Amino acid sequence: ATGGQAELLDDLNPAQREAVTHAGGPLLVVAGAGSGKTRVLTRRIAYLLGQRRVHPGEIMAITFTNKAAAEMRERVAALVGRRANAMWVSTFHSMCVRILRREAKTLDMSSNFSIYDSDDTKRLITLVARDLDIDPKRYAARTLAVHISNLKNELTDPETAAANAGNDLERRVAEVYVEYQRRLSLANAFDFDDLIMRTVSLLQAFPAVAEYYRRRFRHVLVDEYQDTNHAQYTLVRELAGTAPNEAGVEPAELCVVGDADQSIYAFRGATIRNIEEFERDFPNAHTILLEQNYRSTQTILSAANAVIERNPNRRAKRLWTDSGDGEKIVGYVADNDHDEAAFVAGEIDALAEKGEADYSDVAVFYRTNNQSRVFEEIFIRLGLPYKVVGGVRFYERREVRDMIAYLRVLANPEDTVSLRRVLNVPKRGIGDRAEAVVATHAERERISFAQALRDAVDGKLPLLNPRSVKAIGGFVALLDELGELVASGAEVHDVLEAVLEKTGYRVELEESDDPQDHTRVENLDELVTVAREFAEITAEVAADENAELVVEDGVPAPGSLPAFLERVSLVADADSVPSPDGGEEGDGGAGVVTLMTVHTAKGLEYPVVFCTGWEDGVFPHMRALGDPTELAEERRLAYVAITRARQRLYVSRAITRSAWGQPSMNPASRFLDELPPDLVDWRRLEPSSAGFGFGSGSRGTPRAATTWGGRRSSSPSSPGTSSFGKGWKDTVALKLDVGDRVSHDKYGLGTVISCDGVGPRATATIDFGAAGKVRLMLIGSVPMVKL
Ligand code: ATP
Ligand code: MG
Repeated sequence: ATGGQAELLDDLNPAQREAVTHAGGPLLVVAGAGSGKTRVLTRRIAYLLGQRRVHPGEIMAITFTNKAAAEMRERVAALVGRRANAMWVSTFHSMCVRILRREAKTLDMSSNFSIYDSDDTKRLITLVARDLDIDPKRYAARTLAVHISNLKNELTDPETAAANAGNDLERRVAEVYVEYQRRLSLANAFDFDDLIMRTVSLLQAFPAVAEYYRRRFRHVLVDEYQDTNHAQYTLVRELAGTAPNEAGVEPAELCVVGDADQSIYAFRGATIRNIEEFERDFPNAHTILLEQNYRSTQTILSAANAVIERNPNRRAKRLWTDSGDGEKIVGYVADNDHDEAAFVAGEIDALAEKGEADYSDVAVFYRTNNQSRVFEEIFIRLGLPYKVVGGVRFYERREVRDMIAYLRVLANPEDTVSLRRVLNVPKRGIGDRAEAVVATHAERERISFAQALRDAVDGKLPLLNPRSVKAIGGFVALLDELGELVASGAEVHDVLEAVLEKTGYRVELEESDDPQDHTRVENLDELVTVAREFAEITAEVAADENAELVVEDGVPAPGSLPAFLERVSLVADADSVPSPDGGEEGDGGAGVVTLMTVHTAKGLEYPVVFCTGWEDGVFPHMRALGDPTELAEERRLAYVAITRARQRLYVSRAITRSAWGQPSMNPASRFLDELPPDLVDWRRLEPSSAGFGFGSGSRGTPRAATTWGGRRSSSPSSPGTSSFGKGWKDTVALKLDVGDRVSHDKYGLGTVISCDGVGPRATATIDFGAAGKVRLMLIGSVPMVKL
């Protein structure tokens, strides 16, 4: 029951149709934003299944986010039915996890491996650096981690890194890298970058494995190809192949789609080179250009073209649309970031009032996550429903990480980082010294930390005092008991409950008189709920007779602990973008406004888009100001931002901005200057005289000839008269009560949990969630407001 060919190709233009039906050699679709690249990819899959009789199991499609993968699978399912389930549609990372689980033995790992995120990575690198006597002041764990990550993105192994090291830093990095990899193996863990790199080396070192996947996946499709890094590019090449292999298996049909102008992940090693040299790397590649844009009005497109045209060394392409000019772009120069947020909120309200847009039609973009806070403040105050995507994540909270660490240890007992994390959490009398003795033993015997703990229980570590041995014995017995529960097939949420109870973790928090600990209990309840829902969804799918449950090597049993952990490890910010029709309960069906960084918005589209904070030093980012390469990347980011908009686009900037409690003044973004003036309707071009002013001198006078949104003007009058903070920031003696909600420039949103002292001694202890619990003086200029 598949759609006829006509249905699949009907609403495509000739170039799109050519891309969908192209058969044979590698295909590259390069095209500007909104030209239907993603649509082509989805249709192509449906066409392969429906018209070319390809089996779904032969298709591997790679998207940039899990959410995009789920959507692509759904769309294909809508076109061809349930058979779609047997396809592999996933991100690079999920795909690699699947391959690595199946092939773990080949790499001397076991298939229950842990996946380390950047926090775990940093912990392990800290341990390694300490053992190697590396001065943390000279080489911070973070720095070492970044360098190692870069090496992995370039597929440089530790030995090569050591051989190539040319200076002290590089030598230190290489030294840490070698030991770090050894410890990862010992812990039966891969870090994020390893997932890709080790899969590549697996395919390169074991031709039989490569051949298995070559035979299996006859079609490989990649979306957002411009953001692949060298390791991912090599992975694609190894999977698809460029020539028949020794056994005569032809390369898979490869189809990649991308837009060099939208490459915005250079900081993760993405390289446009992969697009630019596709034709060279893949002989007989066919290239198709798409030029009609179906997303935006001509006004929006012209603005996007005008900005991106300024980038040097790009292949010129002109996008056109037949959807008409549409509304002009609306520009706004705000006095400060609060004023900017108020303007945005007011516009959204007005659009909703007039019935011109639902909340879910609207997206607000900013350059960095810390810019979301002012919007939140105003939106909360006005009762505008919104969702901030990204920022501090649920899974980064300490208590949640603790529980995940327990679960990981139960799934993979060798997981040293997780094991050491929970060794004395909650406190059970295993102190730092005891931990160090065990670690040294593990190191000397070249055994895992878990094994060393068992040796301790067996009395093989004479340096441990009897109390520590007893405490370790209790801990090991506890893990064994929980391990039996897992082995008996208990569901994840029941395991979680057992951990919370048997470790005493929950009781300790419940009995605490620290209100923040009560929030922690709520978060843990939330985690149990997540696990329960996970089990329910799995059970539903299993009960659905129409569903084709894919049971194969490499996929953890549905609902199992490894499956749950895998889900949790690979969840990303962009996966929690609200769906347009996914109105939340009680919002009257109008949905929520979505707030996110431009990076997160890649590939998405909204009828109404607000581009905020267009100031030099904010967007483009400070570090790009003196660097042409970085500036070009920022300009691509601006291009991505503008091209998310379908009907209405707003651009705004603020004269002063209070990031991190320090008011700063930034001139207009040069990208504003690059917008054709006749396309922009400036609601306000000059700061309002009343609300505008400066901090009391410490930042000096503003730069002369600042641009006010595209037009040169003289510097503002009377810079000395300080009206900074007028009306929007209560800077003296904040009066707070327990339970009040506040917003702090540095720490973000928080709840007052206790108040002490009076007058100049008044302090409040405030729970800023993941930013921690902070005690603050309330006198003087507190960069904080009561909500
Ligand atoms: P981006 O570069 O931002 O990822 P894209 O090239 O992937 O964009 P799509 O998201 O596939 O573009 O398409 C943009 C919009 O245009 C979508 O709403 C899509 O449904 C619509 N569209 C694409 N092709 C056509 C077409 N031939 N007819 C009508 N609508 C189309
Ligand atoms: Mg797309």
